[in-house]
Amino acid sequence: MKVIILLGPPGCGKGTQAEKLERQLGYKKLSTGDMLRNIVKQDSPLSIKIQEVMDAGDLIDDELIIKVIEKSFLESDCQQGVILDGFPRTLIQAKHLEKMLLKNSKLQNAKLDVISIKVNDISLIKRITGRFFCSKCLSGYHDEYKPTIKDGICDQCGSKSFSRRNDDNEETVKRRLENYYNDSVPIIEYYKEQKIFNQIDGEQTMEKVYTELTSYL
Ligand code: AMP
Repeated sequence: MKVIILLGPPGCGKGTQAEKLERQLGYKKLSTGDMLRNIVKQDSPLSIKIQEVMDAGDLIDDELIIKVIEKSFLESDCQQGVILDGFPRTLIQAKHLEKMLLKNSKLQNAKLDVISIKVNDISLIKRITGRFFCSKCLSGYHDEYKPTIKDGICDQCGSKSFSRRNDDNEETVKRRLENYYNDSVPIIEYYKEQKIFNQIDGEQTMEKVYTELTSYL
């Protein structure tokens, strides 16, 4: 079984690519950001705490995120392979992932591959601050790059209700990028040393990134 780690800054397209790999190749997408957003929807003291950290653009504690991903790994049907979107984000998480794979008999033979999508900061900020979603069917749009065909109406389901992520504003994006360079970039060196690291130019079209991505699988 393959475990693909998609690395890269917020807005580089990890989520979109992971969704396509799931749809087309049957890989299971595990996104820690989605998992946390689901926890936030449940009303609890923990969800309020998580929401605050996410809204500030900071990282959730390693200990908590490790519990969340471990549970999801065990509950998911990962036969075909797994794509990790947003995990690991720190060196501690990267090292824990290996331990977790070794300790689980279902996952012991898993082969790790790391693919990083590189995009410059100016493009990232433009991409993130312009994105919005249909509140009903969750189709993704962008003010400039992918507006709805009819103003204010979702192309897919006709809904007139849209939303944006709380953390997709310029100030929070800058903080998320800072955290990416401080905490996540060191993981790149770690995987380079293990010779399982590949990098893709994420300024290319989504289709080109996908083609290159699948050539590494
Ligand atoms: P994402 O959807 O991947 O952009 O993640 C949204 C937010 O969730 C991040 O800005 C963090 O606050 C939190 N988050 C997601 N994954 C992790 C992780 N592996 N470690 C810590 N925080 C995370």
